[in-house]
Amino acid sequence: MHLSSYEDLRSKLVSRVISCEDVVRYYLERIDRHQEDNIYISVFHEQALERARALDSKLNTGESLGKLFGLPMAIKDNIAMKGGRLTCASKILEHYESVYDATAVIRLEAEDAIFLGKTNMDEFAMGSSNENSAFGNVPNPFDKKRVPGGSSGGSAAAVANGLAMVALGSDTGGSVRQPAGFCDIVGLKPTYGRISRYGLVAFASSFDQIGVLSKNCNDAALVLEVMAGKDGHDATSSYHPVTDYSAEMSSISVEGLKIGVPKEYFPESLNSDVSRIVKGKLNSLRDQGAELVEIHLPDSEYAIAAYYILVTAEASSNLARFDGARYGYRSAHAEDLSAMYINSRTEGFGREVKRRIMLGTYVLSAGYYDTYYKKAQQVRRVFQDRYREALEKVDVIAGPTSPFPPFGIGEKTTNPLEMYLADVFTVPASIVGMPAISVPLGFDSMNLPVGMHLICNFFEEGKLLGIAKHMQHHD
Ligand code: GLN
Repeated sequence: MHLSSYEDLRSKLVSRVISCEDVVRYYLERIDRHQEDNIYISVFHEQALERARALDSKLNTGESLGKLFGLPMAIKDNIAMKGGRLTCASKILEHYESVYDATAVIRLEAEDAIFLGKTNMDEFAMGSSNENSAFGNVPNPFDKKRVPGGSSGGSAAAVANGLAMVALGSDTGGSVRQPAGFCDIVGLKPTYGRISRYGLVAFASSFDQIGVLSKNCNDAALVLEVMAGKDGHDATSSYHPVTDYSAEMSSISVEGLKIGVPKEYFPESLNSDVSRIVKGKLNSLRDQGAELVEIHLPDSEYAIAAYYILVTAEASSNLARFDGARYGYRSAHAEDLSAMYINSRTEGFGREVKRRIMLGTYVLSAGYYDTYYKKAQQVRRVFQDRYREALEKVDVIAGPTSPFPPFGIGEKTTNPLEMYLADVFTVPASIVGMPAISVPLGFDSMNLPVGMHLICNFFEEGKLLGIAKHMQHHD
């Protein structure tokens, strides 16, 4: 079954060339065949088929069809779906079942999407390689010895391997964009507040956004449009009107486009293949009439430091709720209440999560708060001003998604600082809250995917997707 896009799938469904049930069977079969790749943590075999049959009957009764009628989707396992497991790829939530649906899930369901299952990830979305999962590694779809990126590694691998047409991920510092770049697909992180975070398990609340992973920009636009918009359950969701992203996309042309190219995004240390491919694409856009504008984003080297101070601070507070009393895992070995808390957390959390809780507690503690946390907040503000100023002069800021191609499984696990550098180009958009996307450019000399990273101004998702579409190496 070749399905190039949701539009293609929809026309085949509506003209009854195939049924929703055929589609779901096809995907479930593929999922089962890829079982050893650990891409899904839960698969909804029966529910998905049941739902497909219900949707098929809509065609017969002539009921109106939702905007995402029959779209087979995967959901990252830190997004709540009522009655299903919500593990966050952590031992501490291994058997936890969600008691409600995330707003994003409700909105997708209302437009007739079909959910195939929940995908693997780095524990609590902390990581860049999917290696911090209590449910095992996920191999890169193009080289099994390498990582798919993270933390939404399962979602990226699901889309790249054709185990879902579109997947949801979450992006705090790059977790949708970086794995998309590593897996030759599109990964969109919307403006902070564009999609409700209700039902997304919090890592760093002032950074977290649900994002979309898909084969192409059109599918991302459709799914974003359905999920976006104000939600009474999330006070940080925005009232900014949701526009017709697909229409906006098609109005974007390369001619006259001002592409900001920051020197800081092409450091000496950048992998030479990545640099060559990204610059090659920029030059070809210039040949088609775009203007490449050299811009400066000074102090970019502080992004990673500021990010890891701020997100660990927020994580240490957010993860305090997992104490053995209210959710999930409780240690069997505890003489008193505080031993129960300590042992449950010690046994339930993985190494990276513990590292971040400790780091976050440290930067928030009396005596260090001003030196670290407050300073990082000030850096965040400086970044916001700089990116805003830059985007007054250009339409979009472009650079590589990752400084290197997908790395080997185990290559960076012993050096967390090295792992943190995987996000050096994705973290700034998260610090400032602007929408950003990774778009696939093709393959390097080792046949590994390379992604271009683009940032637009707040709430310019339609424009961002439209620009990205001109850069994608395949449809
Ligand atoms: N890799 C980054 C981190 O470990 C980003 C994670 C994310 O976006 N959830 O924090």
